[in-house]
Amino acid sequence: MAVGVLALQGSFNEHLAALRRVGVKGVEVRKPEQLDGVDALIIPGGESTTMAKLAHYHNLFPALREFVNEGKPVWGTCAGLIFLANKAIGQKTGGQEFIGGLDCTVHRNFFGSQLQSFETDLSVPKLAEVEGGAVSCRGVFIRAPAVLEAGPGVEVLADYPVSLDKLKSVLSDTRGQDITGTEAKVIVALRQGNILATAFHPELTSDTRWHTYFIKMGKQINAEGSVQSNSKSDL
Ligand code: GLN
Repeated sequence: MAVGVLALQGSFNEHLAALRRVGVKGVEVRKPEQLDGVDALIIPGGESTTMAKLAHYHNLFPALREFVNEGKPVWGTCAGLIFLANKAIGQKTGGQEFIGGLDCTVHRNFFGSQLQSFETDLSVPKLAEVEGGAVSCRGVFIRAPAVLEAGPGVEVLADYPVSLDKLKSVLSDTRGQDITGTEAKVIVALRQGNILATAFHPELTSDTRWHTYFIKMGKQINAEGSVQSNSKSDL
């Protein structure tokens, strides 16, 4: 299996290193035709506006959309998640072109600026199911986005508690008024068929379980023929 890594900007080298550690061939993708030679694709973290401008410059969007819409396995981390979300809010400039496909609303800078970057332990039952061992994993959040709402075809793999005031403040332009109660959660890892997305950076830790999870997911999808991104799977 050859796993492409979009290598325009951001943490693509770290993803390639993680793929080497799990014994899978990683391929740098910078041109549309390079997508033809890969079985799955990782879109790394970085800065989504810059990455989108570079993707546009290299005419990558039509091929990236086709890859996702054909049901091929795709994993977006952080800025990669933003690339895959159907709706992105919280952008300073707006109007960037992204890929879409993942039925959710992401806030691009939900957790704040570089200074508010943090690490935390997350509970991810799915990882233990696939890999055995611990349910917990370390989440490295850097200028991180969060998913505020997701459609019915989306499986939540990990969420994170946030204050209700924080959630209301970012949702004032959408559905903030409707929220009641005292606690809230945002989604930080999710899957919709062939699309996996994490708001944090597994490639910046020594834990390769997310890469193993993605490769297993990809092999299953490719063995079955592509799955539609609106179908759930056993993994
Ligand atoms: N919030 C950033 C953006 O809008 C993503 C940060 C990251 O990928 N570490 O692109």
